[in-house]
Amino acid sequence: MPGLLQDHIAAVTGAGSGIGRAIALGYAREDAQIAVLDINGQTAARTAAAIRAAGGKARDFALDITDRNACRAIAAQVAAEIGPISILVNNAGINRRNAFTGDADAVVKDWQDIMAINLNGPFNVTHAFLDQLRRAKGRIVNIASIQSFVHVRTPNSPAYTTSKHGVLGFTRALAAELGKDGVRVNAIGPGLIETPLNERVRANNPELIKIFLDHTPLGRTGKPEDIVGPAIFLASDLSAYVTGSIVMADGGYRTI
Ligand code: NAP
Repeated sequence: MPGLLQDHIAAVTGAGSGIGRAIALGYAREDAQIAVLDINGQTAARTAAAIRAAGGKARDFALDITDRNACRAIAAQVAAEIGPISILVNNAGINRRNAFTGDADAVVKDWQDIMAINLNGPFNVTHAFLDQLRRAKGRIVNIASIQSFVHVRTPNSPAYTTSKHGVLGFTRALAAELGKDGVRVNAIGPGLIETPLNERVRANNPELIKIFLDHTPLGRTGKPEDIVGPAIFLASDLSAYVTGSIVMADGGYRTI
């Protein structure tokens, strides 16, 4: 039986690690061809190799999503070497947890870096691939967060919270504008997912992990694979009438 994403070409940013890698592998299992994009060319190559080893189709490209010109160049290269994309996953992101009232230099650097990657990055990549996505009546999946809504339980990452609120706003704004072109734009809101992004926090800050788990009805942290089903849903025809939405994949965190 053909996969849910047969005949699609998907670009996934930050696909060398964690959630992006899992989505890239999951989309390939559903028969999409994958453009594996990551700032780290070596991890991107490893993801693409894993996809090919499993019988899928993938090519890797090193891309720093903060570099607008590089995004344009990669968009053209992907179209020329694989074909125009019909699915874009804006996944690459970083987090740092310095209080706004803490060391001034650290606060300023966090703000600049996090906005550059988490918010300007999706803008740069989406803008670069926009023509391809409009021609294909494509689908955009943005990786947001529980911090697209809440801040009070984790009060020490103002830049990250602001950036993920922005990702949700970007999702809704593009859904409103691109619907007439048949382009659907949605977001996923992961809870605490075990990836390298939070490896140190999980090792060194059990109190913070306890706060998360005390508010997670399913009682466990998530794995990257927990995000793959929602990502396939939002990229496939299963969600043909879904746009401007956010699918929470957070173990129920926002309900209590
Ligand atoms: P991850 O394992 O650290 O993966 C992120 C990937 O993005 C890494 O390969 C990283 O490369 C890459 N990257 C960083 N800066 C980049 C840039 N400028 N251009 C291109 N690629 C870049 O993190 P993750 O947990 O999978 O996070 C993926 C997304 O999910 C992020 O947007 C994050 O905010 C979001 N999210 C994660 C969680 C969670 O609990 N893990 C929860 C909610 C939302 P390097 O490793 O070389 O820097």
